[in-house]
Order: sequence, then C-alpha cells, then structure tokens
Amino acid sequence: MGGGIVSECDDLVGIVSPHLDAVRVERVWVEGDAVRISARTRELMVACTDCGRDSTRVHSRYTRTLADRAVGGRPLLINLSVRRLFCDGPRCGRRTFAEQVDELTVRYQRRTPLLQHLVEMAGVLLAGRGGARLLQIVNVTLSPTSVLFHLMRMPLPSAATPRVLGVDDFALYADVYGTLLVWMLIPGCRSRCGRDGTPSN
Ligand SMILES: [Zn+2]
Repeated sequence: MGGGIVSECDDLVGIVSPHLDAVRVERVWVEGDAVRISARTRELMVACTDCGRDSTRVHSRYTRTLADRAVGGRPLLINLSVRRLFCDGPRCGRRTFAEQVDELTVRYQRRTPLLQHLVEMAGVLLAGRGGARLLQIVNVTLSPTSVLFHLMRMPLPSAATPRVLGVDDFALYADVYGTLLVWMLIPGCRSRCGRDGTPSN
C-alpha cells in the first residue's frame, strides 16, 4: 500500500474517529459483519509508567485488539500494534513497560475508553437488564451481569457534606426496617434551587 493511500486512509478515519488521530492507521476493511482497522503507534517518546522517565528504546511490539464504538451500525475492532519499551531509569525497578495511547488504550482493557464510557452509562441509566438491551442495539453484546459488573467498578463521585437531609423509614421484612437518608439539595441546580443549591421557593 502506497504512502499516499495510507495518508488518505488516516485522514478519513481521523474524521470518523478522532480518537484514532494519535496512531497511524494502515488498513480498514470489513470482515463478516464487523469493520476492522489495523493501526500502529507512532515512534514517539513515552514516559515509564513507574518512574516517568521518557524512553524510545523498543523492546518489542505486540498487537492488541480493541473493541470500539460501532461505525455505520457495524461493530468496530481495532488491531493496534503497540510497543514494549525499556526503562533505563537507574533507580526504577521496572525493566520494560507497555505504552498506552491517550483516549484509545487503558491497561488490561479490551475496549476503547469511548466504548467503555458507553457501557458504563448504560449501566448507570438502565442498570443490568435494560443496559444490556440498549447495548445490544448498538452492537455491544454483554450480559446484564456484566453491565452491573462494570457499573460497580466505576469510581464513586467525591462525597460532599450534605446540608439538608430527608429522613424516611422503610420495611424490608415484617420486623426488619431500614432508614433512608436523602440528600435534598442538588449543588449547582438553578432551575428549582438558588446558586448554592438552596431551594428558591
Ligand atoms: Zn521506569
């Protein structure tokens, strides 16, 4: 494949999937019902994951397969060639490390952050069964249990000290009760609250 063709392919994919701008796209093709992209990372300096020292000394290359958001209704799979690099930091205990690409790879993750965010939002909004059904529509096959698994792995937002609490009781069983504490104010809400979250009426 000639250099010009690769460049045009890079440009087109960059328009459809801007998060692939950081890598060099070599080939795009359809296999079965999926779109596949073959790409490789550029020869850039990368910081060691432990000590932060920059390195370009390549130990080896290997291919990761990443699932990405569907394109044109078809599942998208990216075969990404990434480098394992040496760390020459004199005090670093890590001899080699695998490079990561911002907005495209996460350590041990087989989905792009874009697709992972979609899975997590499906779980947040619709929980297990509903989330799995929604994801099926966009060509992501996950069981309800898996959707809940990803939901439970999400970091919780930092907790602020509530200023106004609602208190209620509820019955779990005949003689087992629970207490429900509800944070009554939504910080930043301006439609029904004041600027600091205080109800305006
Ligand atoms: Zn290091």
